[in-house]
Amino acid sequence: MSKNILIVAGDGIGPEVMGEVKRVIGWYNDNRKFDAVVSHELVGGCCYDAHGVAVTDETIEKAKAADAVFLGAVGGPKWDKVPYEARPEAGLLRLRKDLELFANLRPALCFAALADASSLKREIVEGLDIMIVRELTGGVYFGEPKEITDLGNGERRAVDTQVYTTSEIRRIAAVAFDLARKRGNRVTSVEKRNVMKSGVLWHEEVVKLHDEQFSDVKLDNMLADNCGMQLAKNPRQFDVIVTDNLFGDMLSDVAAMLTGSLGMLPSASLGAKDANGKTKSLYEPVHGSAPDIAGTGAANPIASILSFAMALRYTFDRGACADLLEKAVDKVLADGYRTADIMQAGKTRIGTKEMGDQILKALGELNA
Ligand code: NAD
Repeated sequence: MSKNILIVAGDGIGPEVMGEVKRVIGWYNDNRKFDAVVSHELVGGCCYDAHGVAVTDETIEKAKAADAVFLGAVGGPKWDKVPYEARPEAGLLRLRKDLELFANLRPALCFAALADASSLKREIVEGLDIMIVRELTGGVYFGEPKEITDLGNGERRAVDTQVYTTSEIRRIAAVAFDLARKRGNRVTSVEKRNVMKSGVLWHEEVVKLHDEQFSDVKLDNMLADNCGMQLAKNPRQFDVIVTDNLFGDMLSDVAAMLTGSLGMLPSASLGAKDANGKTKSLYEPVHGSAPDIAGTGAANPIASILSFAMALRYTFDRGACADLLEKAVDKVLADGYRTADIMQAGKTRIGTKEMGDQILKALGELNA
């Protein structure tokens, strides 16, 4: 049965970078029997212009039915004054919510050719390949009560509530263990069980699930503050890190920035498995719509193309195809091609489309 991919390119550079992803999907259809059918819908400011909302109900239904959704980026100054509920980001947030995407996957991958661009020494980051799995729909960002109270004596009191249940912890941990089996087979579970009850429960539930269902995967437990230090000191010790919403927010940014520019960072958000074993998924670059360079043909499409590599590995179970695409990106960088955002002295500066051309050429060469 053919695969059903929905592309929502969005605003700004979204359509430019997603155009290159579409060409890469076409290459896999032609050369690796990928058999994907691609359709397009509007989300974000472009959808507001056409329909007066940031995403339509029809698009949400199409996204639910798709095997994977690929998003470019949404937003831009053009829509700064639209009503709050119709702002471009509302479309993306509704997609994440309605698809119940509770697991956010952010890899930190260091391409050898870019190792010198890291703020850390080459020998510390070269070959780095970490996956951070962040719980996305629970924890302190959503827990109630969440309020600021006036105490009436000139003081105010603010409360956020960190809350997790057994099932929320088990489902995110299961995603991490599953991913680890497709990678280096190691999971580091990160919490603060020394000072937080939610950390105690997190630790107990992850260990219990591991013993019950994933004892073939190596599990380590680490306190979140130590994890921050270890990421800066010796990041290559990690394979998969699983953590809550708050710690994941920070640790994924730290890990991503070990290796590079915004134009290089892919991400995925996954939901629960349905009765047929199918998982809803949304793949997107970490960057936004970059209005400052939109329409100039200068955007780096690699973050979006690497998001497709993630889909090959995690939604479509085509690990060898994902490896090939990552090798192709590696080769193009090693051959000295750079978009403006990752430009270095002595390298060849190219635009969005030429980067797509080079990646397709490298795929062809590596496939031969
Ligand atoms: P941004 O990520 O769009 O841009 C930040 C800087 O990085 C800019 O200088 C931009 O030119 C550069 N950049 C980003 N992606 C690049 C790429 N692929 N190639 C080359 N350079 C790239 O962040 P911003 O400027 O803070 O936000 C712009 C708009 O995007 C805002 O409307 C914001 O709300 C929206 N946004 C959307 C998402 C999303 O759709 N997921 C995420 C972040 C921001």
